[in-house]
This record gives sequence, C-alpha cells and structure tokens, in this order.
Amino acid sequence: MNLPPALLERVKEFRRRVQALSQFFTSLSPICAGCFLAGTCCCRGLFYDEEELVMAKALGQNWPERVQPPLQPDDPYCPFLGPQGCALGEDKPWLCVDYRCFRLYNAMGDGKAKALVQEIDAISRLYRGLREEICVLMREENPAGGG
Ligand code: SF4
Ligand code: SF4
Repeated sequence: MNLPPALLERVKEFRRRVQALSQFFTSLSPICAGCFLAGTCCCRGLFYDEEELVMAKALGQNWPERVQPPLQPDDPYCPFLGPQGCALGEDKPWLCVDYRCFRLYNAMGDGKAKALVQEIDAISRLYRGLREEICVLMREENPAGGG
C-alpha cells in the first residue's frame, strides 16, 4: 500500500523512535537472556500487528516472514528469545517496546524508567493516530476485508 507523503513522514518518525527504544532494550539483553535460560519469559507472543506491517512495507522493510514463527500454545517463551536475548534487535515490534516488563524496569532505576514511560506514552499517541489513518486506507483498498 502506498501511503500519502505526509502520513509516510509520520510513519518514519514513529519507526525512528521505536528503533531508538529497541536499541535501548537491546542493551538490557542479558536480563532477557536470563529468562530464556530459566524458561520464565512473560513476554511471549508480542508481534507486529497488521497496521505496523503496512508501515514496515511502506518503509521498504520486509518483516512478515520473520514474524510468523511456529508459535505453539505450550511454547515456554517467544520464538525470538534466545541465549542472547531478543533476536530482533532494533526491529522489535511496537507491542514489545510498549510492554512494561517489571524485570527490565526494576533494573533500569526510577529516573530512567520515568523518562522511558513518557517517551513510550508519546509514541503510543502517535501510533494510535497512524493506526486509525491506516485502517481507513485499508478499508478503502479492500472494502470487503472487514479490517
Ligand atoms: S521482556 Fe521481561 S519477561 Fe520478556 S524476556 Fe525480557 S526480562 Fe524476560
Ligand atoms: S520479539 Fe523480542 S521483545 Fe518481543 S516478545 Fe519476542 S523476545 Fe520479547
């Protein structure tokens, strides 16, 4: 789907800010790696939603193949979690960046956590607006799709 230029610019801003936070969470990978080793991860199954995949395609990023791992109901943790932490690096889905994991937040300290939550809340507002506009475009493109 081609996005109007003004919308595309906001999508770029959204993705840039999500990537910055993804990089920060990657710096906490040893904590996530500990979950993998202990089999105690609570963040399984947070992937890109449909609108985020539309945004990725508009930016020329090819994610869908990587976001359909064989997730089974009894999988102990997300298929992207491994001994090095999350394998997706700066391409973490927005839902994962938005996820308030108590292990990570406890580790980063109050000052950092507060600043992080403020940025996440700001990105969340941006994301809600983008999703609404993209949903409208998806319905226009495929009126029978029910999206
Ligand atoms: S996000 Fe939290 S629950 Fe998930 S692997 Fe990392 S530390 Fe564990
Ligand atoms: S993609 Fe990464 S951050 Fe998201 S649930 Fe899986 S391991 Fe956690």
